[in-house]
Amino acid sequence: MRTVTVVGASLAGLYAARALRAEGFDGRLVIVGAEYRRPYDRPPLSKTFLTQRPPSAMELADLRLSDREEEDGLAAEWHLGTRATALDTAGRTVTLDDGRTTRRLRTDGLVIATGAAPRTLPGPPLAGVHVLRTYDDARALRAALHDGTPRVVVIGGGFIGAEAASSCAALGLQVTVVEAAPLPLMPQLGPDLARICAELHADHGVRLLCGTGVNGLRDDGTGRVRAVELADGRLLDADLVIVGIGVRPATGWLTGSGLHLDDGVTCDAGGVTSVPQVVAAGDVARCAGVRTEHWTSATEQPGTAVRNLLAGTTVARHTALPYFWSDQYGTRIQLAGRRGPQDTVRIVEGDPGDRSFLAVYERDGRITAALAVDRPRPFMRLRRRLVADAAAPCGPPAAPAAAPGAG
Ligand code: FAD
Repeated sequence: MRTVTVVGASLAGLYAARALRAEGFDGRLVIVGAEYRRPYDRPPLSKTFLTQRPPSAMELADLRLSDREEEDGLAAEWHLGTRATALDTAGRTVTLDDGRTTRRLRTDGLVIATGAAPRTLPGPPLAGVHVLRTYDDARALRAALHDGTPRVVVIGGGFIGAEAASSCAALGLQVTVVEAAPLPLMPQLGPDLARICAELHADHGVRLLCGTGVNGLRDDGTGRVRAVELADGRLLDADLVIVGIGVRPATGWLTGSGLHLDDGVTCDAGGVTSVPQVVAAGDVARCAGVRTEHWTSATEQPGTAVRNLLAGTTVARHTALPYFWSDQYGTRIQLAGRRGPQDTVRIVEGDPGDRSFLAVYERDGRITAALAVDRPRPFMRLRRRLVADAAAPCGPPAAPAAAPGAG
């Protein structure tokens, strides 16, 4: 391969570029990114980034994922502020648009790392309504939060919504979280542990309204949000609204490319699409039927995908155990493994009442996943064990009896 193009200059894109060079690819490496920024880290954007006040607040330089020396070492052509708008797999070209000119780039290999973009509510854009994905989103939100917006409504109680609510509460704002499901985080945690995590909101004076959708937003007649209208017609007064209702994988530019798109780019377990010269990694990739939106997956998948790209076929598969963390109200929540809807829950250490415990999910007498609230060390020990069990050839997943604290 003489030219490899990475589309998406964020976490997965950077790790793909690193992996290409580490695997010995010494050809032309092109990195295309729609944002004008070099790769930066998103997790702090919903956490400390929002709560710190200028002039000591976190800025872009504090979030950078690579430094100039490393970027020079990658010897890549960076096309920032440039969007890929189309892919021709037969002609092996990517169409690029930098807002002034459109051109076609010929490439032998392609890594799709375009991540995901926040879902928005229908209706015209209103002042005072925010989403949270990019540095620019977070800067705009931080400025508004520090500018006297006492009543905040967060629509969506998922991880981003919960973290944003926690940051707003830390700023002393009056916060309401609206969640359509009976409990936030039910699909990820199951009802028992989702309930415990939901209680964190009340612990910190944040009102949580569950089981109610949102009809829409009301404006004040000048194009500024005034209230959120719930499905039952109730109005929640709001000076500022944060919409955290999930993301859509950024695949619009691939329409017509012939790649299969279904809630992301459909790939095999090694990140390879139906075209062997095209691989995908990170939030945009749906590998073997599963799409993850976790920082760790976006750092682990590119290595496998790139190995397969250079080999021209699938020689490696993602085997890593899914893992994510979330920081809310000064508490760290960590989940590792593959929880199933029928799994039972067992607390193995600590007490949910103290908001500090380690729990396992079990199925057929085996541990499938582990969740910790403020128990980082025992959690990491158990996570290592789960990883080892998953890697063991035909070995059974972790047996249930041993308490991880003793491990
Ligand atoms: P992204 O980071 O979304 O990057 C994709 C890049 O591609 C973007 O820069 C985008 O502009 C660009 N792009 C899109 N379309 C095009 C195009 N057509 N042409 C060119 N470029 C394009 N995960 C955790 O595990 N724990 C956390 O605590 C956590 N906190 C988070 C907090 C926030 C506020 C956010 C937003 C995410 C958080 N995550 C967390 C998730 C984690 O950050 C993501 O999983 C990770 O960023 C995914 O990386 P990615 O490179 O696949 O996608």
